[in-house]
Amino acid sequence: MTGKRFIVTGGAGYIGSHVCVELVKAGCQALVIDNFANSSPKALDRIAEIAGEGVTLLKADLADPADEARIIDAVKAYKPDGAVHLAGLKAVGESVVEPVRYYSVNLPATFTLIRALEAANARLIVFSSSATVYGDLNQSPVDEKGATGATNPYGRTKFFIEEMLNDLARADARWKICNLRYFNPVGAHPSGKIGEDPNGVPNNLFPFIAQVAVGRLPKLKVFGNDYPTRDGTGIRDYIHVVDLAAGHVAALNYLTREEAPGAVVYNLGAGRGISVLEAIAAFKRASNRDIPFEIAPRREGDIAEIYASPDKANRDLGWKATKTLEDMCADHWRWQSGNPNGYRD
Ligand code: UDP
Repeated sequence: MTGKRFIVTGGAGYIGSHVCVELVKAGCQALVIDNFANSSPKALDRIAEIAGEGVTLLKADLADPADEARIIDAVKAYKPDGAVHLAGLKAVGESVVEPVRYYSVNLPATFTLIRALEAANARLIVFSSSATVYGDLNQSPVDEKGATGATNPYGRTKFFIEEMLNDLARADARWKICNLRYFNPVGAHPSGKIGEDPNGVPNNLFPFIAQVAVGRLPKLKVFGNDYPTRDGTGIRDYIHVVDLAAGHVAALNYLTREEAPGAVVYNLGAGRGISVLEAIAAFKRASNRDIPFEIAPRREGDIAEIYASPDKANRDLGWKATKTLEDMCADHWRWQSGNPNGYRD
């Protein structure tokens, strides 16, 4: 991988910043394309502090036609080997309220990237998809053959983009595609310098717990304790963001080989379920803080349990998650306590 160059769309965001660190550590360079809609330019300084130089920035909006020519020119000039595509809107609840915005950002951003990579003759994309494409499939561990069927507009944009990229690889053998279905990314870089910095009140469990632990939010609501699970609360497959980022490097490594297949799909998960109550208890131990919570009604659209079979990624990519729940909590806490307001001063 040494010496390879990749476009990273959304590279200043939570997952993107960790992907950049792993790329630089692997001897690669990255051109981040980000509009900072849900990220901070400070993340790029922090990436350099952790991993050294190797990341450059193009501040641009992939979904804005006014930026398209500039993006294509910059990508051509960069002479990349391919791209990791993470840019997009990602809040499930918001997507239900504003579906057209979700479609009109996530899809056109991908069209622009495809055009830019064609112009640069670098037809390779590792796409940030999500286990949400499995919809309400209630059969874990879920493997890549599991039935798809997203249950909200955000999930459908992920599913449509996967399918579109698959069509592209079928139509033109020069394209190499890897759809990565993330389970629940949590934690932060062990340096405490980069991590998740959600806009407004977090929707996801870990950032919510972390903000309760640090005193920014008073109390966590546990959405339902009457599910048919071991303690009645929802079970998910939490994966450390550094493991997840390493999965992208493994996928790029796989796709850039001469004999790489056209389109592939992999689950990136740890392969085991953790309940909400187990996550709270582990975070409490790691932070040594009280985490007040109350049992609340189930959240609409939630399923009882989902966790990955990560066997295919292990087999083909030689990748597997190595970090524990304790690592996830300790690292998430180091980031949150060191940066109580995220990247804001
Ligand atoms: N959850 C919760 N309280 C919260 C946020 C989430 O009890 O404030 C639960 C949620 O019902 C689910 C789990 O935590 O069982 C993970 O939720 P998250 O939104 O992080 O991920 P997703 O449901 O999208 O997998």
